[in-house]
Amino acid sequence: MSVWCKHYNGCGKHDQCTAGITYKDVVAPDLCGINAYPCFPDSVQPSLCHSRQMPTAEEIAAEDAKLAIYTKHLFAARKAIIATGQTAGSVLCPRCQDASVYFSIAPNGHIRATCPTTDCLTWIE
Ligand SMILES: [Zn+2]
Repeated sequence: MSVWCKHYNGCGKHDQCTAGITYKDVVAPDLCGINAYPCFPDSVQPSLCHSRQMPTAEEIAAEDAKLAIYTKHLFAARKAIIATGQTAGSVLCPRCQDASVYFSIAPNGHIRATCPTTDCLTWIE
């Protein structure tokens, strides 16, 4: 679960966060590393950003619960894929139960799989 500011979108990728704050304007001077930025929970100077909005404990718990369910479904799909004994094919998606997870298994055993349902299972090992 991301425990950083809700507006953080990657200071290495973007000049500004989603709240329009320019990262270099709020970084603590003479410091480096993520804690120099107010976007993170252990920031040395969180007050540098007036738009800082950290997730609540309830939001973090809800996100963790969603991730746990996603992981459970991913492992169920993975188990079903391996049980087919095939190197490519499809299995019923254990998450949405409305589509097939299409998969292929590389010679090294790594699985690539995706369910076509929006925001459903997809992974590459
Ligand atoms: Zn699905």
